[in-house]
Amino acid sequence: MAASEPLRFVVNRHHATTLHFDLRLEVERVLVSWAVPKGPTLDAGARRLAVQVEDHELDEHLELEDERKVVWDTGFYQPAADPRTALDDGHLRFVLAGHKLRGAFALSQTRMGGDDRNWILVKVDDEYAVPGHEWTTEDMGSVLSDRRLEVDGG
Ligand code: MN
Repeated sequence: MAASEPLRFVVNRHHATTLHFDLRLEVERVLVSWAVPKGPTLDAGARRLAVQVEDHELDEHLELEDERKVVWDTGFYQPAADPRTALDDGHLRFVLAGHKLRGAFALSQTRMGGDDRNWILVKVDDEYAVPGHEWTTEDMGSVLSDRRLEVDGG
């Protein structure tokens, strides 16, 4: 993996049937994706369910926004190991360099309830971790535009 080709990530806030976040990591030119109902947090003590969903097209989805979806965060990530191998092994550790999300995170496959789509997302305890962290309403909008979801007050 060339250092000159940093890997991208995007987190959507998405109002579909339910309001949720989607974490997407660039792996081999696609966005491997998880729906995270409660969203990422900087609290290293929190465990967040992350349900793997279908891969998304990289070029189409890095900046896509509409009435129901904002780019809540985006930037680059550095995997601790080859991400495809790590995904296959069910444990992926990575450092995010985004606007809201920074520092080390880990995704671990749990197969909770016998479902191999179920992973747990945690913030690794590092200098970017914030005990008891909670996002404010101000944090809920897009990092690419002035767009906000209607549910956040348009
Ligand atoms: Mn979604």
